[in-house]
Amino acid sequence: MFESLSEKFQSAFATLRGRGRIGEGEISVVCDEIRNALIDSDVARTVADKFVERIQLEASANLDSIKLSTNPSQEIYSIVQRELVRILGGAGRRLKFAKNPPTIIMLAGLQGSGKTTLAGKLSNFLKESGNTPLLVAADLQRPNAVNQLSVIANGIDIPIFAPQPGNGVGDPVEVAREGVALAKAKFHNVVIIDTAGRLGVDEEMMEQIRSIRDVVKPDEILFVVDAMIGQDAIRTAQAFNQGVNFDAIVITKMDGDAKGGAALSITEETKKPILFISNGEKTSDFDYFYPERMASRILGLGDIQTLAEQAKRVVDTDTAKRLEDKFLSGQSFTLEDFLEQIQAMQKMGSMSKVLGLLPGANSASMKKQLAAIDDNELVRTKAIVQSMTPQERREPKILNGSRRVRIANGSGRTVTEVNNLVDRFDAAAKMMKQMKNGGGGLPMAPQIARPVPPKKKSRSGNPAKRAQEESR
Ligand code: GDP
Repeated sequence: MFESLSEKFQSAFATLRGRGRIGEGEISVVCDEIRNALIDSDVARTVADKFVERIQLEASANLDSIKLSTNPSQEIYSIVQRELVRILGGAGRRLKFAKNPPTIIMLAGLQGSGKTTLAGKLSNFLKESGNTPLLVAADLQRPNAVNQLSVIANGIDIPIFAPQPGNGVGDPVEVAREGVALAKAKFHNVVIIDTAGRLGVDEEMMEQIRSIRDVVKPDEILFVVDAMIGQDAIRTAQAFNQGVNFDAIVITKMDGDAKGGAALSITEETKKPILFISNGEKTSDFDYFYPERMASRILGLGDIQTLAEQAKRVVDTDTAKRLEDKFLSGQSFTLEDFLEQIQAMQKMGSMSKVLGLLPGANSASMKKQLAAIDDNELVRTKAIVQSMTPQERREPKILNGSRRVRIANGSGRTVTEVNNLVDRFDAAAKMMKQMKNGGGGLPMAPQIARPVPPKKKSRSGNPAKRAQEESR
């Protein structure tokens, strides 16, 4: 998402940086490029026009200081950055909790927008921050929706109120009412109600959502929209806004290859904030929406804050402290520590997604490298380390040829792959030692778990001998 927009923004600024002097003419050229880039990325035309109009106004108002500046293109860049943050929603918004619990959250949106998946993600997100959510399955339209939500709820251990099959199924308003009553009786502090969607906007669906709304009086009505539907996202959002007057927006499937126009236009078009974004199928692929971080990614500056938060979330403080102490005290890292790092990285999501948060991730060269990352490499590396005995993990130097053959067989990998891993581990461990006094650096896992070069032709017929040859 946003790759093409990001590239076009960066190329517009590169042209601007190439000019020694910046006046009205140069500003107008860069504004045209920005407008075209936005429109190509599915941003509504009216939004794109207003966006550049404001940049032009602001730049004209500050033209004298821009001309005097030692870095005039940076001045324009800052104006664009501020404007991007503004159309994405400014400071951003957080969930509003009711003064008297339970806080009632109702989800609305088209079928397939990701509502049911989101109900699970949101409840899990709230549970992780100490809340006690109850899910209510009031989507009785889609045959499998109740079952799907029950499976999700069981998987993350969240209680659910769902109509029993054959037990008066049929009235979603009643289900929502009973769900809220149950939440009150059982002291849940949040209730999340999944409602029915249709394939297109339809008056009957809107009427049903309004009826649920009028009975349960939600504290938050969240409109859920799929980023992949491009310009249709805005039309759908406007229809739902008119139909149920939602409070905030959740954009799903931000991991897809949509161009990002929906995220950039929706707040401007509906005057409602984006509250959350969902960017994957895993329960953890979900977070509050941060306009500033998104603007930073669009401008190619990466999103280091999210990266740091994700790392913090998956590495528990005890493990982090233990590894840090080990590092600082000069003790050598073992393959056991490495295994722990792989497991943490796997929890953070796909490598390309994680590294995609780094500055410059949208540049052509970095994109090529990210595309070459094989996420299964971590799985393969983990299998190799798991096939080692605890002693081998602690003292990799005892890994002789026959042990390597055993590990290769046990993990279903080749001896060359085992050798490569051990070599890379040795090199990374040496580097960690050298870095000790300098501090910082990347975790070992990405350095070690990189693609394995093609298998070399063996010089020996004996696998154990071959392993020793190859490990030299
Ligand atoms: P509903 O009809 O609105 O309840 O939609 P669902 O929750 O059933 O989601 C429709 C499909 O989209 C399912 O296959 C989900 O796994 C998938 N999905 C939901 N959210 C995301 C997301 O953020 N990223 C991706 N890639 N897929 C998603």
